Amino acid sequence: MTVSVIADKCIGCGLCASMCDKVFEMRDDGKAHIIDDESCDKCDCKDVASSCPTQAIVV
Ligand code: SF4
Repeated sequence: MTVSVIADKCIGCGLCASMCDKVFEMRDDGKAHIIDDESCDKCDCKDVASSCPTQAIVV
């Protein structure tokens, strides 16, 4: 599983980190970052990616 956040698209809403704190975390730059994209054990990050309001998450 390879997941990335397109920083220019991320508006820092925090939704991804609240949906899955194993894979995503918010950092001081106000953007979501990937902590460990191998730790997804539920939806292969697809539910989170489709919930991102700006389509900033690429799976
Ligand atoms: S859900 Fe999308 S816009 Fe919101 S913090 Fe995560 S990557 Fe950024």
